[in-house]
Amino acid sequence: MTDLPLLPSAPSPVVFAGAGPGAAEHLTLGVLRALEAAEVVIHDRLVGAEVLALIPAHAERVDVGKEGFGPSTAQATINAVLVAKALTGRRVVRLKGGDPGIFGRLDEEIAALEAAGLAFRILPGLTSASVAAAAIGQSLTKRGRNASLRIVTGHDMEGFAEQDWRGLARAGEVAAIYMGKKSARFIQGRLMMHGAGGETPVTVVENVSRPDQRIHTACLATLPAAVAAATGPAILLYGLAPREAAASLPLLHEAAQ
Ligand code: SAH
Repeated sequence: MTDLPLLPSAPSPVVFAGAGPGAAEHLTLGVLRALEAAEVVIHDRLVGAEVLALIPAHAERVDVGKEGFGPSTAQATINAVLVAKALTGRRVVRLKGGDPGIFGRLDEEIAALEAAGLAFRILPGLTSASVAAAAIGQSLTKRGRNASLRIVTGHDMEGFAEQDWRGLARAGEVAAIYMGKKSARFIQGRLMMHGAGGETPVTVVENVSRPDQRIHTACLATLPAAVAAATGPAILLYGLAPREAAASLPLLHEAAQ
């Protein structure tokens, strides 16, 4: 057998990792292991402090934090940073809040890596809607109530996002609305115009899985006021009210309005 020539080692695949909505307990073991092995971590603003604290001290940390409608790092810049770091051959983790595949612009970053001939892996995370529903003691689906769950955004590249309002206005529908704070009044108007009752429950869960988590119990009629009371990132659980049993838990009790 002849000796194989030494091949230049290919850069390790970039790992897209879901940080979950906040607390370290919501990380998967896979993501924790990837973080522990990381040499570069490129993360968003929405990654919780407890998770950031797990990044090894020797790893380079790049904060590309950005927020809808607020100061942001352009996506093209993030893509360029990601590609440049990956080309150094170090182990790069791209850490995103929640699940990277839910409103995380994952495809755009994958396209940038592919264009540069770089490989990647995706490690999912707990999306904020799952953790928010758990916090109010509710199931996102329920036999006889909703056979589907919608994951919708309050705004998209065009502005306030249009959705299937007629479908959502039907009794028993459940939707997890991301980035819905600025568009709360628009969402309220559209749903009521399509026949949803003002008493339809909507629970606003702010700072999910963080020490400052707050639950604002509301209905469609009071949604804009509930949203105005939330200063942190918030998820709107349309069609769900906190379960009474859950409402006696300290966290919920504290936030009950
Ligand atoms: N990939 C993320 C979502 C990113 S879009 C996920 O899977 O959760 C950003 C939106 O997600 C925010 O506007 C907010 O609606 C929601 N969000 C993310 N983290 C949150 C948190 N800790 N608490 C409440 N909402 C959160």
